[in-house]
Parts: sequence; C-alpha cells; structure tokens
Amino acid sequence: TTFSDPQLGFDHKLLDNVAKAGLRKPTPIQRHGMPQLMAGLDVMCCSHTGSGKTASYLLPIITKILRESTIAANTGHTSSSSSGSASSSSSSTSSSAPERKPKTFPAALILCPTHELALQISNDANMFGKGLPVESFAVFGGQSMGIELSRLKRGTVNILVATPGRLLHLLTEFDVLSLGKVKYFVVDEADEMFDRGFFPQIGDIVNQFLTPKDERTNALFSATFPNQIQHFAKKQLRSGYIFVV
Ligand code: AMP
Repeated sequence: TTFSDPQLGFDHKLLDNVAKAGLRKPTPIQRHGMPQLMAGLDVMCCSHTGSGKTASYLLPIITKILRESTIAANTGHTSSSSSGSASSSSSSTSSSAPERKPKTFPAALILCPTHELALQISNDANMFGKGLPVESFAVFGGQSMGIELSRLKRGTVNILVATPGRLLHLLTEFDVLSLGKVKYFVVDEADEMFDRGFFPQIGDIVNQFLTPKDERTNALFSATFPNQIQHFAKKQLRSGYIFVV
C-alpha cells in the first residue's frame, strides 16, 4: 500500500504535503486504519508513540472535508454556520444586542490529554492541509482565552483539537463555538485521558453533537486496553467498529 493508492483517494496536493513531511510508506496503523476511516467505519487503534497514528486519522479527515467542501461549492451551499444549530433558549429580540450565535462549527473534533499533544496535532493538520481549505486550531488549558475566542469568532476553523476541560469551558461560558456539526470525532491517548479523569467530561462533550450517529465517524486511540477503555469504546464507537492493532 502507498499513500497514493487510488482506493484511498487522497488529493494530490495532500499527497505533496505528505511527501514533504517525509512520510514515504504507510506505517502498519496507517495501512490498516486509513481505509476503514475512508470507508466511514469507526476504528479503535492500539497505538504507541511513533506509530504514525496522527497521520492515520488526519489524512482521511482532511480528504473527507475536502470532498464535502467540493460538493458544497458545486451545489452552491457553503459549509459555514448557516443553519441547523439550536441556539440557547434565551435569544434576545433586541436588534441592538450583540450577536451571540456560534461562529465556529468544526467538522472534526480531536480530543487529547495535554496541551503539547494538542499543539502537535493541530500543527500536523495545518502542515498536511497546507494550500487546502483546511484550518486547524488547538484550544487547551493554559492558553489565553482571548486568543482562542478571537480565533473562534472568525469562524474558519474546521479541525478543532482540544483538551476536554478547556473545550467545555468555552462551550458553557461563551457562544462562539458549536459541536452541532461534528462528523469526525477522535479520542487520542484514551488511556491517558482516563488516568487524568477526563471521561465524564468527554461524555458531556459528546452530548453536544447533533449529527446523527450514523453520519459520524469515530476513532479511538490508546496504548493499552484495560476494561475501562473497552467500556468507553463500546459506548462511544458505533457497533461494528474495527480494532486495528
Ligand atoms: P505519531 O505516532 O503520529 O506521533 O508520529 C510519530 C512520527 O512519525 C512523526 O514525526 C511523523 O511525522 C512520523 N511518521 C508518521 N507516519 C510516517 C510514515 N509513514 N513514514 C515515516 N514517518 C512517519
């Protein structure tokens, strides 16, 4: 298998970026995981550091987002925040009130345990998506909220990478962001997320998705699979997910 396998259908510009990043031959996790995600199937992947897991989900997600933006362009629909989100019940009728509608509706949400990993993932996404209509941004505890809010108010981010606490903070305290249109959901380093006590927060985050379950592709990565992770996977992934070792 190669990255340019027609069955994967990766865009040539994306393939250029993959080559520029020094990725020549897919790693095992990429070889087995990418076709599943391209087929819209959920995956649970056993990943260790250096396995190439990040590209294994970013390349399919970028490809899917590109296809959707092409379809939207051809049908005259934009993928921006035009419809579909139920806003909060306290909508004001005063025309002078500041606009409180969410601006950012990411197509992809990637949750991870640490700010270092969040930055690394969003940098990788922007590197693979260079020159393409892909914009990734990381939100995490410790980063200035002002920077995050102004970026999210621009409404251009389509791949959001987040640590759970900061994401929930942004969702509950501000109206700049909606998870109503998330179609690609990744939990990276799930075992580390569990150890840090993030699972209840991940549940709260998932509750904000409005996309029907059969229209959302989910991927879970973990180095180890104790019972808690398996239970979590059963709950968050669709039945029939593929286990990639
Ligand atoms: P990851 O496991 O996603 O953290 O990736 C670890 C490192 O491996 C990163 O520096 C990637 O750029 C690199 N990498 C990922 N996939 C490949 C590949 N197919 N060939 C060579 N290097 C890769």
